[in-house]
Amino acid sequence: MNDQPVFRKELEEYMDAALPILYVDTLENGKVQDILADVAKKKGRSVVSWSMHSGYVEEGGGYPTDLCGALASVLREQNFTRKILVLEDVAGELESPAIVSRLRCIAERIVRSELEDCTVVLIAPLISIPRALEPYITLMNLDYLSQEKIKEHILDFVQNNYIQAPNEELLEQFAMHLRGLTETELDNILALTTSDDRELNQKDLRTILRQKQQIIKKSGILEMVTVKETVEDIGGLQNLKDWLRTKAQIFRDVRRAKAFGVDIPKGVLIAGMPGCGKSLTAKAAASMFKVPLLRMDMGRLMGKYVGESEANMRRALQLTEASSPCVLWIDELEKAFAGAGAQGGSSEVTTRLFGSFLTWMQEKDSLAFVVATANNISHLPPELMRKGRFDEIFYVDFPNQSEREKIISLHIGKRRSADLAKIDVAALARKMKGYCGADIESVVRDGVEAAFVAGKAHVTTEDLQAAIGRTHPISETMKDAIEEMDKTYKSKKFTNASREE
Ligand code: ATP
Repeated sequence: MNDQPVFRKELEEYMDAALPILYVDTLENGKVQDILADVAKKKGRSVVSWSMHSGYVEEGGGYPTDLCGALASVLREQNFTRKILVLEDVAGELESPAIVSRLRCIAERIVRSELEDCTVVLIAPLISIPRALEPYITLMNLDYLSQEKIKEHILDFVQNNYIQAPNEELLEQFAMHLRGLTETELDNILALTTSDDRELNQKDLRTILRQKQQIIKKSGILEMVTVKETVEDIGGLQNLKDWLRTKAQIFRDVRRAKAFGVDIPKGVLIAGMPGCGKSLTAKAAASMFKVPLLRMDMGRLMGKYVGESEANMRRALQLTEASSPCVLWIDELEKAFAGAGAQGGSSEVTTRLFGSFLTWMQEKDSLAFVVATANNISHLPPELMRKGRFDEIFYVDFPNQSEREKIISLHIGKRRSADLAKIDVAALARKMKGYCGADIESVVRDGVEAAFVAGKAHVTTEDLQAAIGRTHPISETMKDAIEEMDKTYKSKKFTNASREE
């Protein structure tokens, strides 16, 4: 049986490690029950269970009782060894203090080996875990289906519903679009797409995309970013833009590129000074690649329960695969993985998250292009920056004279394009040495606003010069941090995002 390999492996490991309560966050009770029966057999354990509809069920039979009664009888038993106690439909039940107290008592006895070789498995969608149980619970998720399994699932579905099977190419496309979903989600989507015309056709792919957007939104782990920015909005960073253009060309014609022997682009790390266009580039990359942009926010990923962050990371990566082709933007990479590799406490969670991210980066063959952005890379694990993880690492410095001129022109052009020809952009750019893109934008915004408030008909070079005088660039306000970063970057010898002047 190679169904659910990761889930099975973790289940066995956790049982061997005598973790008292495993909480499987799912609606797929039947699947978990089947796997538990297999694992119990392998480990020489027996399964006893409780559910709302069947009551307490053990080997010799069962009887109706509520959960509180079932747990009380477990606690009364003299000889409760080598058992897996499976509790279904428990999400609402965990609000009861009597149930929490009994579960805690059972967990403590497992930890003290008074209930020898026993494990409690809760199967329910996760709502919340009572504080008193947190130390005893390990959170688990089922694996998502592989591309091959999804294809089998689609073929089973069409056969069972007397629907004509799609041809091989369409089947492949459906399987690609349906990656990262649970079986239940898959069935719901298939039922929805075939309900009108009882066939699976090209237009159903759009319905799938819309449904997937809903699933991503509901997951709350990834954000689908609406992108207006294009490469034309970036002033300077010519090397980076040229590099992305090449990758976009491959990405957009990936079938032919692959057949020609070209590697699928994996991703890029853009590190460097704050406010210099890293986020802007991540957004522009999605427009250039003509695919949706998903943003991974580590803050949202970090859960408070044991195993929750790892499960969230797995879910995020699966949803990314499900949404491919896409750009996955990991903002503030340093916040995500700084401290990975260190010992103890939260850094162990970070290390595990980092490990699963690296494995995914290494093995991924989907069209999910990663754009990771970072300011401070000094605490990032060196493995991340080794060649081969990302296709390239770019360093973004403060803009040089010609880049400042382009950024100034861009931002004036957006607001006062008619005034641009009369403004001495080169002189302004010289005055703004050490200004980042965000500083320059803020000068233009301020200058335009001041001219309007003063009742002027046009914005002039003098208006903008006055605005420069009122602005404190980030290189002044964060002088020490910036110098420190500059030293780190100079020593790393990353590819410069800008073209030399
Ligand atoms: P941080 O590291 O602080 O997140 P960042 O490098 O991601 O900063 P952005 O968020 O991309 O910086 O830039 C902020 C704003 O500054 C942009 O929305 C854009 O308006 C302006 N800006 C920055 N760099 C450029 C640039 N090279 N060309 C045009 N505008 C820029």
